[in-house]
Amino acid sequence: METPMIRIIKHVEVYAPEYLGKKDILTAGEQIAAIEDQIDPPASFPSLEVVEGEGLIAAPGFIDSHVHVTGGGGEGSYKSRTPEMKLSDATRAGVTTVIGVLGTDGMTRSMENLIAKARGLREEGISCWILTGSYQVPIRTLTKSIESDIIMISEIIGVGEVAISDHRSSQPTVEDIAKMVAAARVGGMLSGKAGVVNFHLGDGKRGLSLIKEVIRNSELPYHHFVPTHINRNAKLFEEGVVYARDGGFIDFTTSTTPQFLEEGEVKCSRALKICLDREVPPERITFTSDGQGSLPEFNENGELTGLRVGTSESLFTAVREAVQEEDVPLETALRVVTANPAALYKLPRKGAIQTGLDADLVLLNAEDLSIKTVMAMGKVMVRDGEAVVKGLFE
Ligand code: ZN
Repeated sequence: METPMIRIIKHVEVYAPEYLGKKDILTAGEQIAAIEDQIDPPASFPSLEVVEGEGLIAAPGFIDSHVHVTGGGGEGSYKSRTPEMKLSDATRAGVTTVIGVLGTDGMTRSMENLIAKARGLREEGISCWILTGSYQVPIRTLTKSIESDIIMISEIIGVGEVAISDHRSSQPTVEDIAKMVAAARVGGMLSGKAGVVNFHLGDGKRGLSLIKEVIRNSELPYHHFVPTHINRNAKLFEEGVVYARDGGFIDFTTSTTPQFLEEGEVKCSRALKICLDREVPPERITFTSDGQGSLPEFNENGELTGLRVGTSESLFTAVREAVQEEDVPLETALRVVTANPAALYKLPRKGAIQTGLDADLVLLNAEDLSIKTVMAMGKVMVRDGEAVVKGLFE
């Protein structure tokens, strides 16, 4: 079916992500054209679809800002390299914007491949940006420097994921980190982009100390540092809560396994609740899925027993659990996958339901918060929970 140019969603509870009440939403082409108490379509208008939104909630399309879109993993040798993201992996999960990253493997996974994948996902209908580099410092850039990657390549908006406090990291020093973030900042300033650095935090004993030291001893502001996996153990989580209260931004990873949780990982829904109870400003918290990353499981002898793959589906599952199991208000829980990543990664057309912004919308069943409809850039990608647009090889 041809995408109608004009669509009206009637009588829908709008969470923008702040609650706006019951409204009608008009989308025209790729944009949100109006949000009003009542919008009545002229009966004769050609190519117009009216969607009944009674019993539904409209949320901004979700932003998953840490996904191994070209596949990741590989830490269990070659056969453990994980597969690429497919279009419907994102859309069925309500994700309409992804930020792609490499990961541990910056050798067999390349920036060229990452850019091509980002462009492919855009052609298929969702929005995609990427970060330059991988776990290693110095960053292996696509062009001659971090600054020029960010300034010259439209898809590149920052650096990452760079590993610290991890046995797989390149053991960067405080000075290495300061220079890298400074380059990202200047590249971002000159191109109007975020210029942030996404840091993979491991289980290492140094925790966030390297980042805190750079912030203490430089002019670099907090918003250029995005440390992720902060919920991976209780000690790092506790350090993260204090860091966020002091002004930092923290990211929690939603893909998990029963074994990880058993070993002390803090479930994302619980982590959000604790942060709010301890007066962390909600705008400083994001969730990401670490989608297509590997989730290795080991037995008591430390031998690899299984390897799962992270999914974008875990992203909204964690948001829903925060609402249903932890009593976090829906508008607060939605922020961590909409308005917050949009602000942090400087994506001004994303993360909100507002006139003039991109028509990226998720319609949820109000009763159980299940995903019913997903629209990306004004096009319906998921209808009644089923992907109606598929990638070319799905
Ligand atoms: Zn990571």
